[in-house]
Amino acid sequence: MDPSFREFLSSELDQIKEQGLFKEEWPILGEQGPEIQVEGRAAPVLNFCANNYLGLSGHPELVAAAHRALDEWGYGMSSVRFICGTQALHVELEKKVAAFLGMEDAILYAACFDANGGVFEPLIGKDDAIVTDQLNHASIIDGVRLCKAQRFVYAHADMADLEAKLKEAASARFRLLVTDGVFSMDGDIAPLPGICDLAERYRAVVLVDDSHATGFMGKTGRGTWEHHGVGGKVDIITTTFGKALGGALGGCTAGSKEVIGMLRQRSRPYLFSNSLAPAVVGATLRALELLTASTELRDRLELNTRTFRERMTAAGFEIRPGVHPIVPIMFSRFAPDDAPLAQRFARALLDEGIYVKGFFYPVVAKGLSRIRVQLSAAHQPAHIDRAVEAFTKVGKTLGVLGA
Ligand SMILES: *Cc1c(COP(=O)(O)O)cnc(C)c1O
Repeated sequence: MDPSFREFLSSELDQIKEQGLFKEEWPILGEQGPEIQVEGRAAPVLNFCANNYLGLSGHPELVAAAHRALDEWGYGMSSVRFICGTQALHVELEKKVAAFLGMEDAILYAACFDANGGVFEPLIGKDDAIVTDQLNHASIIDGVRLCKAQRFVYAHADMADLEAKLKEAASARFRLLVTDGVFSMDGDIAPLPGICDLAERYRAVVLVDDSHATGFMGKTGRGTWEHHGVGGKVDIITTTFGKALGGALGGCTAGSKEVIGMLRQRSRPYLFSNSLAPAVVGATLRALELLTASTELRDRLELNTRTFRERMTAAGFEIRPGVHPIVPIMFSRFAPDDAPLAQRFARALLDEGIYVKGFFYPVVAKGLSRIRVQLSAAHQPAHIDRAVEAFTKVGKTLGVLGA
């Protein structure tokens, strides 16, 4: 390889390290769960940073379903869907996930990243407009880039700005309004009632990426549309199987039969990428069965979230208000020096056996450094006790809480 290319990459990597942005990976020795053994640490730690919202990642029912699918349907497909990569199992999952999401049909992808990468370009073109929230997920941003429609970015969750952008886009043939259902940094939920009203008024198609909501938001876990009571007003949903629904991988787009029909003909990550592995399909089906039969897991997650939020507030921490299991612990009182504080805080928590991640500039704006906690239905009351105790102890040591 050209030595100057190697040197260039090496110095870029050094810069990332100097800026404090280098992402390290710490191998877990065992399965994903609320209590994990991290390589290089003597004692197990409590995991408060997984997207394992319902605790299904290591759930015996899902592991068993994956085993059964492996035995019955084999290991891999070695084909895309339209050549010889469609098993009856794939079709069954598409039907069941569409029904769960309240849609006519659904189409599977290797990941929600691919669902978003392949949803815009087949549906709309240069005569159309995409109206998109400024803080939408990276995969939406990339998907929008692959599409020729004109792009209008509105300020995060700002309904006045959204309306202004819809007016600007009034002369387009079609308008597609796209938002994350839940935004991962703050755990805030998109204001869907306002969004759907404006979409109706300005004749826009609504697409919601519900990756941080499918399986647990709303009374029966259908997602942010159920939480906000706007069923029937969201036209297209993209979501992942890689978070609450077992956490392996895979995703889907759900919508009307025409939308899904067009995606099957024209969506490039679907046409030119391999079928989902049967074990993943079988386990995701089992996850949907469990969530349809009982709301126990999402109810427990809701209780854990409320308990943690209340106890951290009572302990004196500043947390972003809300109801989502993403709970950002803020240090804004300490701005502009909140970034090193968040970093020190996360490290001290790990020494106390609590595994969480700090986020600071440039991942979030200056003065908005935070530790992001994520609750799970698999957390036991004792786990939450230990987390609040550790936060309180470190908070006192680092002067975040009064001594
Ligand atoms: C996690 C996430 C994705 C990506 O999902 P994968 O299935 O892991 O590719 C897409 N959109 C949003 C909003 C997410 O949070």
